Amino acid sequence: MEMERLSNTDVRGFFPSDDGNKQDRNRFLELISQIVSGVDQLKDADSVYLKGEKDRSGNFYGELIRTSEIPQIGSPQEQVNEELLKLLHGHPYHTKYFLTNILPMASIPGILGMLTAFMVNGNNLWDVYGPAGAEAEVKVIGMMSRLVDYDHTRSGGYTTWGGQGAIFTGLRLAIVKHAGMASRAGVPHNLYAFCSEAAHYSLYKSMEATGLGSNNLIKVKTLQDSSMDVADLRQKMENVILRGGIPIYIVATTGTTDAMGIDNVRDVYEEAEKVNRNAGLSRPHIHADSALGGFFAFFNAYDFANNPLQFEQRTLQALQAIQSKMKHLHLADSLCFDFQKLGQTPYSTSLFLVKNAADLKLLDLDPDETPYVGHRGYGQYHTGYTLECTRMASSISIYSALLAFGVEGYQRLLAQFVEINEEFRRVLALELPEAIIVNPDNPGIITLFRIYDEGGMNYANELNGNCTTYEVNHTNRLNEILFELLGKQRDRIFFGDTKKHLYVPTRDGQKIALYASKLFVISPHTQKEHIQEIVSYLKEQITQAYEQNDLAKLGGTV
Ligand SMILES: *Cc1c(COP(=O)(O)O)cnc(C)c1O
Repeated sequence: MEMERLSNTDVRGFFPSDDGNKQDRNRFLELISQIVSGVDQLKDADSVYLKGEKDRSGNFYGELIRTSEIPQIGSPQEQVNEELLKLLHGHPYHTKYFLTNILPMASIPGILGMLTAFMVNGNNLWDVYGPAGAEAEVKVIGMMSRLVDYDHTRSGGYTTWGGQGAIFTGLRLAIVKHAGMASRAGVPHNLYAFCSEAAHYSLYKSMEATGLGSNNLIKVKTLQDSSMDVADLRQKMENVILRGGIPIYIVATTGTTDAMGIDNVRDVYEEAEKVNRNAGLSRPHIHADSALGGFFAFFNAYDFANNPLQFEQRTLQALQAIQSKMKHLHLADSLCFDFQKLGQTPYSTSLFLVKNAADLKLLDLDPDETPYVGHRGYGQYHTGYTLECTRMASSISIYSALLAFGVEGYQRLLAQFVEINEEFRRVLALELPEAIIVNPDNPGIITLFRIYDEGGMNYANELNGNCTTYEVNHTNRLNEILFELLGKQRDRIFFGDTKKHLYVPTRDGQKIALYASKLFVISPHTQKEHIQEIVSYLKEQITQAYEQNDLAKLGGTV
């Protein structure tokens, strides 16, 4: 009987047992162990990639589609595991040199939380089908509400598909709050949304998907620290109103993905309220896009005066500067925590929070429209307001991480990321003065830097509009040469870059976005003592970039 179960002729062999027997358990554990040790064998702490050959050049994906078909007879899982491990060959991995973007490692608590969810595979749509997910979801909503100073007896939320899903539902709420008939009658076309030039493109997509159209998305200028220029917000809202439009939605980015700019939610809130009130309109829905930066709310209750975790002075100052901007999060009507970012859980574990859970009722389905589930005499938790029907219980992974890290664990991890950035900035200024830090007012986990050729081209002149379009483009091209050099050797040290740091005015009346390279500290394995080597490497690459630039100038191509 045992042999039969483990053979492919008894389909039960594909599944965990229903009686908890030891043989089936051990077999399952061995298979898991094969994957975990298989990954370990691929690791190389001095490379950004797992070992193994993988040539993705040429017609790689075309060949795959041509040759892939389902086997007639399945293979033993041990062999399948070998195939799975081959997928990981040459995969980017979060070693100390992984410095590219918000692409975190999944922590052990996060992975185990997922595993727990998979073991019962409940459907988070309804607590009758997924009680574990519902329980964890309500718990993490309570926990995170307290952290951001929402009234946890009134707030609500749910786990969803990314920071983008949160921005999208914020917009759905804004629409239904201002046009109650919209869910039946369709969306009126005089509704407008606002975000800064440095905001994530999620809102652009949401405007398209709700049918409002991206023409009704107004981009607000940013200040030099990449935060929203609230005076420009006021002016643009007033213009919209003058033309018969209604401002319904403002996304205040609290932690931009490139420069870690933080919009002042209090100023945005007050200004938006005032402008709409003067026009006899109710306040727009304010969504704080805290997908990335919201986790710095873990310092809301940190005792900065006594510094119990003994952070270095410069780190402490940086954290305090960030916290002083994050403390206004509670004013937002909704916000988001992308746990798959700084929450250290696997994809996709985003938490959407609303200040008033009652808002979600505006999006709920009529009981008549949900014939299979919910609104019964049994079950008390039915998420008919989510865009998803079936939902994974990703809340269990979030719950696991919150319990295991605790406030202090997150404080230590985030402080480490910040400390390494501070150290990078210090060593860079010392050893590579030609690389200018272009987000100097935004301490945090990201440092953007930009190199300049000789002459009057420098960051201050760019910001003040003293460079010509030709000069800004020339510096952008020089930085692009550096992107390409760094990109070619990203197996050694993996930097990020952006082609849209800030828009600067030029002497000849244009507005141009600046290119900058990016150091993004996201791996827990990057330590302060690695910074010297990282900067030395950068120095070599920058020297080469200048050489290539000079050659190009001689050849007359720049
Ligand atoms: C990552 C990010 C998003 C998008 O979130 P996804 O989880 O990728 O959908 C939106 N806004 C900000 C500020 C982000 O950092």
